[in-house]
Formats: sequence, C-alpha cells, structure tokens
Amino acid sequence: MKPQRGKNSKKKGEVDPVEVYCRVRPLDNPDDNCCVKPLSTTLVQLIPPENSLAVARNGQIKEYQFTFQYVFDEYTSQKAVFDYVACPLVDDLLRGKNGLLFTYGITSSGKTYTMTGSPKDQGVLPRCLDVLFNSISGVQAKKYVFKSDKMNGFEVQSEADAMMERQKRDIMPGITTPKTPTTHRRGNFGDQERISDPTILSSVDDDNQYAVFVSYIEIYNNYVYDLLEELPYDPITGYKPPQTKILRTDSSDCMYVMNCVEVEITSPEEAFEVLFKGQKRRKVAHTALNAESSRSHSIFNIRLVQAPLDPRGEEVLQDPDKICVSQLSLVDLAGSERTHRTKNAGDRLKEAGNINQSLMALRNCIEILRDNQKNSSNKMVPYRDSKLTHLFKNYFDGEGKVRMIVCVNPKGDEFDETIHVMKFAELSQEVLIARQQQVRFDIGLTPGRRKMNYKEKFKSEDDLCTAPKVPAFDFSLGPGFPPFELLRSSDDIVLPQLEKFLVERQKRREALQLDLDRQNDEFRAQLVEFERNYEQAIIQNDELQQRVEKSESYVQKLESRIRSLERRMEENSRNYKESEKQKRELEAMIQDKEVKIRQEKSEKERLRNDFKTRLDMNNQHWERNLEKERQKIEQDYGGQIWEKQHKLNMLRNIVNEGDSDAMPAPQETFRTPAPKTRTHTTPGKLLSARSENDMRKIGNTPTPRSRTATTGTSLSAARANLKPTPRSTSNSNTPKPTPAYNPRHRRSRSSNAEIWLDHRPQGNVELDTVLQPKIKKKKSVSKLEVKDTKEASKYMLTHQDMDSEDNLTTKIYKGECLPTAGGGTAVVFNDVETLTQTSPGSRKRRSSCPQPQDFEGDWTDVEDRCNVGIEGHGNARKRSKPLPGTRV
Ligand code: ADP
Ligand code: MG
Repeated sequence: MKPQRGKNSKKKGEVDPVEVYCRVRPLDNPDDNCCVKPLSTTLVQLIPPENSLAVARNGQIKEYQFTFQYVFDEYTSQKAVFDYVACPLVDDLLRGKNGLLFTYGITSSGKTYTMTGSPKDQGVLPRCLDVLFNSISGVQAKKYVFKSDKMNGFEVQSEADAMMERQKRDIMPGITTPKTPTTHRRGNFGDQERISDPTILSSVDDDNQYAVFVSYIEIYNNYVYDLLEELPYDPITGYKPPQTKILRTDSSDCMYVMNCVEVEITSPEEAFEVLFKGQKRRKVAHTALNAESSRSHSIFNIRLVQAPLDPRGEEVLQDPDKICVSQLSLVDLAGSERTHRTKNAGDRLKEAGNINQSLMALRNCIEILRDNQKNSSNKMVPYRDSKLTHLFKNYFDGEGKVRMIVCVNPKGDEFDETIHVMKFAELSQEVLIARQQQVRFDIGLTPGRRKMNYKEKFKSEDDLCTAPKVPAFDFSLGPGFPPFELLRSSDDIVLPQLEKFLVERQKRREALQLDLDRQNDEFRAQLVEFERNYEQAIIQNDELQQRVEKSESYVQKLESRIRSLERRMEENSRNYKESEKQKRELEAMIQDKEVKIRQEKSEKERLRNDFKTRLDMNNQHWERNLEKERQKIEQDYGGQIWEKQHKLNMLRNIVNEGDSDAMPAPQETFRTPAPKTRTHTTPGKLLSARSENDMRKIGNTPTPRSRTATTGTSLSAARANLKPTPRSTSNSNTPKPTPAYNPRHRRSRSSNAEIWLDHRPQGNVELDTVLQPKIKKKKSVSKLEVKDTKEASKYMLTHQDMDSEDNLTTKIYKGECLPTAGGGTAVVFNDVETLTQTSPGSRKRRSSCPQPQDFEGDWTDVEDRCNVGIEGHGNARKRSKPLPGTRV
C-alpha cells in the first residue's frame, strides 16, 4: 500500500475535469448595481453595467453566460458549499486520495469568507477539519505514533515509544517540533463561539489508525514563507521578516516545502489554534514585509496519515511501507485583479505584478494543459514559472482531484475584472486530470481486527458497556449523500440527484448483499478447507516435532563427542609441546658433545704432530751421527782398500805384463773412483742411466723388494760399481756389465752451478702447496731422454700416488747426475721430499709418517716410472729403500 501520490497510482484512461464551482456573494449594499445573475444551478449570467469598459468597447450591452459544475447563489449557505464541493474531497482524503481546492476571484469577492468563514458560519476549512475528526474519531492513533521523517514522509513507532515522546515533550515543551497549542477552547473560533459541522463520513477503515498533520504556508512575491515558524524577534526593531522556504521533490517525486513546520493535531480545536497562530504571524509578517494579505496566497495543508493495525488489532503495524499519506490543500488565492486596478506605486506595483504573475502562471499552465489535451500536443507545462504552480504541479499531473470555487462579487463596478475571472474559470474546466486510483487497504490481514481486539479486551457485558464506542461502519453505504438542501424553489437538480442517488444506493445494497452471501459461502468453504489443512498440519507438526527431538538428541551426542575429541586434542598438543622441548634440549646436548669431541680430536692431533716432529728430529740427529760414524769408517777403510786395490792392480799389471795381449787394459774396464768423488758421503741410491732400450728392459723386469738395508747404500753401490764387469762376450744372452760411472767427474763451476732436470711424468696433479722446490735453472720433461741427462747436473723426479681413501702422496726424489764410463748417466739419489695430502672426506686419517707398505709401493712405482737406464738393477733394487731423512 504505497500511498500517496505515487505516479503509479494513476489509472490510464480515467480522467476527471478540473471541477469549477461558482459562488456569488451577496451585495454589500442592496442598492448597488448587480451585474451577475445565476440562471440555474450550472449557469450564470454576467450583464455589463453601462459604465463598464466592455460596454465602452463594444458600444452596447452584451450579456455573458458561463457554465460551471454548480452555481451557488448569494443565498447558498456555507454548509451547502462545503457539502457539495469540499466534503467529497474529505471523503477522498480518508480513502487515501489527494485533493486541491482553490478559492479564486477578485479582492472582496468572498474567497476568504468561503474558505474560512466566521465562527458561527464556518467556511470550508474548519468544516473539513470538523468532518475529518468526526470521521476518524475512535480510530485515531496516539500522538507521535507517526513521526515525520523530515523529507515529506512518515515513520511509525510503537505506542510505548510514542508515550515516551509525549512525556518528553510535556517535560521539555518546544523541543524538536513546535508545541501544539494546548489551550483547548472547545466551541470557540478565536474568541467567539463556533458551530462545528456534525457530518461523519463512512469512508474510514476501522482496521486502520489515523493521524492528522497540518502546515500553513504563504506565497508572497513569489517567495514561500512558513506561517507556523517562530518569527525571529529583536527587542529594539521588533519582529524580523520571516525566512523564505524552498521547494523540494520527495522520493515519490512530489513537491513539498522543505523544513516546513508540520504539526500533528488530534482535534479540530488544536487545528484552529494552529490556524489562528498562523494567521497572527501572517499579520505580523505582513507588517514586517509591508505587505497586504490580499496580495498573498495562503495554503493550509491537511495531511492524513493512516496505517493498518497489526494482526492482533492492538497497535499500528510497524512497517513504513504500509503507511498511506493523503493530502488536502486548501488555497485562498490572492485577488486576481489586474495591475492598473491597484492604483499603487513602487512596491505595491511590484506586489500586484507578482500576484498577477503567479495567477498568470496558473492560467498559463492550465491553458497549456488544456491545449495539450485537446490537440494531443506535448508542449511543456511551465510549472516552474511560479512557486504556486510549481508547488501544485503534482495535482495537475494527475495525483489528486482539483476543484476551484470562483468567488464573484456581483457589484457592477467589478464587472470588468469579474469577466476575466469567469472566462478563465470556465476555461479551466476543460483541463482533464488523470484520476487517482483507489488506494487498496487490503494487505492480506483479517478484516475486523480492531473489533476482535475490543471483544478480547472487554469480554464481559459490563466491559462492553464501558468500552469506547467504536463507530459502526456500514460498508454497503458507498459514497455519502449528495447535498440535499433545497437552495431555491426552482432547484430542479437537488431532488432528482437525491432520487438517483437513492436508487443507486438501493441497487448497490442488493448487489452487496448478493456479494456478501457469495463471500459467506466462499468463506465457509475456505474455513472447512482450512480446518482440514489445519488438522493435517497438526499431524505433520507432531511428526516434525519427533524428528526434531531425534535430531536434537543426535546433535547432543555429536556435541559431547566433539567435546571429548577437543579434550584429547588439547592433551596431544600439550604432549607434543613437551616432546618438542625435550628434543631441543637433547639437540643442545649433542651439539655440546660434538664440540667437545672436536676439541679433543684437535688436541690429539696436536700431540701427535708434536710427537712426530720430535721423533723426526731424533731420527735426523741419529742419522747425522751414524753418517759421521760411517764416513769415518769409510775413510779409515777406504785408504786401506785403495792401497790393497792399488797393490792388486800392480800385481795384476805385473802378472799381465807377460800376457799383455790376452788381457784388456784395466782402465777400459774398471773405473776406480777417487774416494773424494764418491757419493759415500751422501745417503742415497745409486742408479745409472744408459739408454732408452735398457730402461725399457729394466722396467719390465720384476723388482725384488728389500727393506733390510737402511743406511750405507751408497757404499754398497760404490762397491757394486767397483766390482769387475765381465768382459763383453759374443753371447747376447749374457747381461751386459754395468758401466761404472765416473766419480771424478765434475761439472764446471763456472757454468753457473747446477742445471736441474725436472722429470714430471704425465698425469701428475699440480700441487699448489708449500712443496715447491726453489730451483734456479731447470729443464722440465715429462718423458726422460738420454740427451736430457747429459746437460743436467741434478735430477728431480716427482711422483704422486693416491691410496684407496683418496689421500694423495707426492714425493720428489732428488739426485745428482753423473756421467758413466759407458757414455750414459748415473743418478745418485740423495734426497726425498714427501707430501701427504689427506682427503677431507677420508674417514681414516693416515699417519704422515711413511709406512712400510708405502715405501714398498712407492719404490716399486718409482722404479717403474723412473726406469732410467739402470745398470745392475738388481743391486739398485736392493738399495731401493726410503731414505731415513725423508721429510714430510
Ligand atoms: P476576499 O477574501 O475575496 O478578499 P472576503 O472573503 O474577505 O473577500 O469578503 C469580503 C467581505 O464580504 C467580508 O466581509 C465577508 O464577510 C463578505 N462576504 C463575502 N462573501 C459572503 C457571503 N457569501 N455571504 C455573506 N457575506 C459575504
Ligand atoms: Mg481574502
């Protein structure tokens, strides 16, 4: 039930004309010239007086007749005008529809009289309020149940909240919204006694709650003022001019005055208080503005808010979408006289111009609307030309009924102005306005909720007697009675209309009775169906209940299981944390122990190295001592041997003298080295190189190993060399005798000392270590040639060996090259340097001390590699023992 003046509320095709009523007021002075004569209830005649402009223009008296919806003559009562014109608008208001009622005419034509009237003869406005409150009595909402949302809409709040707000406003009056006047002067109209209108309309839905809000504004000089707003007061200058207001569009595209005071009223008296307050301020404002009331348009808005009761029929349904707001605007227009009539200058002229401008804008809009409808054109209607038309734009767009009462002063002097008014008024009737659709209050709730609630509340008869009176609603009545007051004897409209109305009413009653019977039957059938469904629903409900109980017990089981699992999870997580902690502690202990192990290992290593160094030093010391001892012995015995040898040679010479031809010369066969040139002084091995072929031959020969000889090998070698070599024979199988080397051989010292033959067999790994002998002159070869040995005085062989644990042992054998008698070269090894590099991945650390097996392998390999042309290799084998002074 979206109320209000929503655009969707228009029903296509259904239109109503702007209804214009004419009311002729009585002459102030019966002797005055009368120019208006109502001819019938719809026809009125204007007769120009002789002094009028029309006669002057035409030169003759020409009568004008105008037709209106109804013509009220000077005897028509206020009540009749209200019943005929305004009461249907109040009826519409109760049904949720909007209405706009103008009073239009020249000044002093009776507009204000018609709109407001006097206390004893009230005009339209007070009667509207009377009838409205008469009708909604008993279904009125408590105050503040409906609240303005400040944007032209309403909100609903509970009765408890409304009560709180009432108490709050009573304690602190004047907050938020201006306080509604509380001084009830029942029956008064201002200071006078008033006679209220007793009409009650039946278009109220007793399952709804109603509230009435009023606002009072004025449009002056095309500015909008709020007549209910407190005027700013200065103690010196008095009241300040009121603030102008602006027009706004709400969420339903309806125009409204922004920040306009809207007062909720609960009785006609409260409304009159508001009205008088506004009128009083209007006077004050006019003084401040130097304005005249007849030049301004006053607009009194009545807004009726209604919303359905809840299903229990107790309170208003708390649903803002179900609120329906309808509005009745009662407009007392300014005098429609033209500018020249004002005979004023300055501001007054401006006022008059503005008044006319607003009315002209109204005329203009109405004319364009009419043209558009007649010619099916789509010319834009200039509503925005004035505030008046802009504010009521929605009505002309079809969101409410528009009615106009044209007030006519029959005085002859007013003819020239009146004729314009009548022409415009008659023309306005041609404008058609789309009819607002009937607002449906059926929202699916059971009708009669309020009555049911009353029955519940007041069950005993006594209670029912004391219960508030609920107005009886006769739903079959339909629209209210038309005015049946006979205005004159010749009235031929009222009685036929009344008769027609009664006939229609009777027909409607019968139709409604039939409809009621049908609905009763339908309702009974529905009731039976409902009861059946209800029983089924009860059975289903029981089943569902059982299932729900089962599900609940299952859910409880699951929940207890979840709880136990959660407990276990917590326990596990605690254990896990404990284990983690222990693990961290053990890891720390392991690290500590590893550190200790490393420290102990390094300490052991240090001790081992220390011990070894000392051992080496002892060995060297002993070797040196032994060597000295040996040299001494050799020197002692060498001389004796040489003497013996010499004697032997001499003897041999003596013996051979006789047989010189048969014996070779001893110097060809024997070389006797001088004791000084022997290599006895240097421990080492004596090898001799002869030729490549010899070397190969020797290299292929299996080498016996010996570990017995440790020192003095040079001496043995020397002895071996001194051993007489068997003569060369023709027998090729006989091994050649080893040629003796020349121990006396000396290289020239002037040839810049020693030239080293650096023999590095292919496949050796670069050392990049400290084991880098410093040699000035050298010749490096990877493969040994005899010719290379001739040039060199020193020989150096680099040998590398890798064991199963990837430990690399590098040995550099050094020796002296000595030419042999046979033209070869003998090498006397006198030094070995050993470097053992341990692989980092090696599990077992090898002692850096030479081991017996190393020596065996080394020497064998050296002999294989070295395979220099060794003569008498068997001897050499015997001597192939590591030197005691081997360094690491
Ligand atoms: P307007 O508001 O159009 O300027 P008013 O309503 O003030 O005119 O009327 C001017 C005077 O005419 C008032 O004194 C009013 O009492 C009187 N009057 C107007 N119409 C009637 C009427 N129908 N019956 C009796 N007096 C009337
Ligand atoms: Mg007036």
